[in-house]
Amino acid sequence: MKEITSAKLFEQAKKRIPGGVNSPVRAFGNVGLIPRFIQAAKGDKIYDVDGNEYVDYVCSWGPGILGHAHQPVIEKVKEACESGLTFGAPTEKEVILAELIAELVPSMEVNRLVCSGTEAVMSAIRVARGYTGRTKIVKFQGCYHGHSDGLLVKAGSAAMTTSVPDSAGVPQDFTRHTLIAKYNDKDSVEQLFAAQGKDIAAVIVEPVAANMGVVLPQKGFLEFLREITSQYGALLIFDEVITGFRLGLGGAQQYFGVNPDLTTLGKIVGGGMPVGAYGGKREIMDMVSPVGPVYQAGTLAGNPIATTAGIETLRILKEDPGIYDRLEEKTKKLEQAVKDAAGDRVWVNRIGSLMSIFFTPNPVLDYEGAASSDTRQYADYFRYLLEAGIYVAPSQFEAMFVSDAHMEEDIERTRDVIHGYFEER
Ligand SMILES: *Cc1c(COP(=O)(O)O)cnc(C)c1O
Repeated sequence: MKEITSAKLFEQAKKRIPGGVNSPVRAFGNVGLIPRFIQAAKGDKIYDVDGNEYVDYVCSWGPGILGHAHQPVIEKVKEACESGLTFGAPTEKEVILAELIAELVPSMEVNRLVCSGTEAVMSAIRVARGYTGRTKIVKFQGCYHGHSDGLLVKAGSAAMTTSVPDSAGVPQDFTRHTLIAKYNDKDSVEQLFAAQGKDIAAVIVEPVAANMGVVLPQKGFLEFLREITSQYGALLIFDEVITGFRLGLGGAQQYFGVNPDLTTLGKIVGGGMPVGAYGGKREIMDMVSPVGPVYQAGTLAGNPIATTAGIETLRILKEDPGIYDRLEEKTKKLEQAVKDAAGDRVWVNRIGSLMSIFFTPNPVLDYEGAASSDTRQYADYFRYLLEAGIYVAPSQFEAMFVSDAHMEEDIERTRDVIHGYFEER
């Protein structure tokens, strides 16, 4: 009988898939291990083909806010499958999801569904350019907005550890309209506006940066972005692909009380299926085809299975007002555990159920701060946790995600393992 192991599958995978994976960070390259091939997940646990069980703090990089294979969502998805996987024609579910999004994130008065966060951001930027008639985009060092050409400049996430800050295959001409500012640094933004303000179509930002590890906006930073964009007639785009429905039902914009002109969503909005969304005021979204001249389309956009998973997930979040308090409490316990165990050997950033442990004693407020972390130490920490059945992101520059399915006993076990690590090291 042929035994299936992660090691064997990885060898096989590398022959047919670049690096053996369909998204770079999954390859475990930054932590020097073979990736675990997962065969099932339930609640806060994932199970690999080697027979190991892990408490999962990756949660599919964010979508899994309810935990894995949440039964009410699974039931509805199964039901939806029976009626057909895709029609390429409008459905009631798209209307329901669009209304839910607009209800929970009121600034997204009119919104459109796409199939990924990358597409949502790419489309929002096109709309911003179409609406303003301008070409330049301001993005922040260390923020990640998907893998479209114009945004792969000083991107975070895997682009930060795989040494391709600027991807090969992207012509200089395609990124020359992308201007780079420093996160939490108002001066860097002011300088760009002073020099090229009338050409800037939009500022795009992760309102809480979560792709250089979690970095919080400093007090007044988002308000400042709101003011300076309005002053110059540029649009403010919040990329809430991670923060949407995670910091609260209304995302970061509700949390901080700052309304962007356009918002992009992904991850949670699809409840584990491939969905992205972008939207804003009617006047701006009326630019989009077939109403306006900005073209954007998708064969499987708003498909009935994906929208079902999204609708059910958002409904469950909406009908359970206690969920965000529970997430806060649980994640706070983990934060406290790290602080108690590690003292000033690490810097912890946390907001709601998003957290990062940086292996640096210095405050992490921006890309440079994050990049000063000792990634070898992180890799060591990662391997120790994995060995103990705790699955965190295989990279220093990603967030730790906590779900509603995380059980008290698993949080406590995680705390003990973290204590064990810092006692031994
Ligand atoms: C994940 C992510 C994206 C890209 O979404 P995909 O669905 O992976 O294309 C864009 N922006 C942010 C902030 C993200 O975290």
